[in-house]
Amino acid sequence: MSSRPIAVPAGIDAATEIPVTTIQGARPGPTLALIAGNHGYEYPPILALQKLPSQLGSFDGTLILVHVANMPSFLGRTVYFSPIDGKNLNRMYPGRPDGTVSERIAHAITTEVIDRADVVLDLHCGDGNESLRPYVYQTVTGNSDLDARIARLALAFGIDHIILDRGRPTDPARSVYCSNTAITRGKPAMTIESGQLGQTDAESVDCILHGIRGVMRELGMTKDGPPALTRPVYLDPVEVLTSPATGLLYPQVERDQTVAKGQILARITDFFGTELAQVASPIAGIVLYVVATPPITRGQPIGCVAAKQGP
Ligand SMILES: [Zn+2]
Repeated sequence: MSSRPIAVPAGIDAATEIPVTTIQGARPGPTLALIAGNHGYEYPPILALQKLPSQLGSFDGTLILVHVANMPSFLGRTVYFSPIDGKNLNRMYPGRPDGTVSERIAHAITTEVIDRADVVLDLHCGDGNESLRPYVYQTVTGNSDLDARIARLALAFGIDHIILDRGRPTDPARSVYCSNTAITRGKPAMTIESGQLGQTDAESVDCILHGIRGVMRELGMTKDGPPALTRPVYLDPVEVLTSPATGLLYPQVERDQTVAKGQILARITDFFGTELAQVASPIAGIVLYVVATPPITRGQPIGCVAAKQGP
């Protein structure tokens, strides 16, 4: 086991570093990269990777653990955006070596982690403002072999709500998202959501550890591990609703709630208490997440509703 930081040298703004642990298994096998902290206020993924090494039995292959991808956001306790350059790291991939710090972090993770991995799990949860029920994104690319491998990863992880995620960018030079950076390079990858609201609850952490063990079994890195899901709930389509106004947000629904088409998800008021807008769900479905803290800026997400696919 080797633990070291990946240095991200100063450029047009401050330097940072990315703590990474690499663990070699007993025999050769696949390299699985586990990336936490692309969003620095999302704690269960970070805590799961702190616990993982002590829970590992014998395995084959290699694990790469990115403990905190976005150190400026983690130490600065910021939601979505870096306190240094104001950018969302998980929209900056594959990054660039001469950009701002979020772009340089993305470049370092692309070249030093994703390029060395066979399979990538990008671990997220509801950000500090998001009340979220667990789910995963199963990217659908149209490449049947790659899609089948990603579908098996989703079943192996064990979170039963699976978004069929279509329409991600296909250009590896403009992959935008961390997991999509692996996928556009022909590698199975998945984004996982478990946890919410800046909390550190054991249930959300254990869900991630359980999922990692399931994926290691699926990849043949271990003989044992949690069995794959047999009765997943596939979600398609999925609608992310954004706020039409800036002000205070009052959620009208809770995570995991079933909503009707047209049901009000949130009300927005100005800073004097006058209602500016209501946001209705354009589809019937379940609430995967809803923003649950008052600040809201026009254009930012207020929640996400997903339709369960028929039987
Ligand atoms: Zn996130």
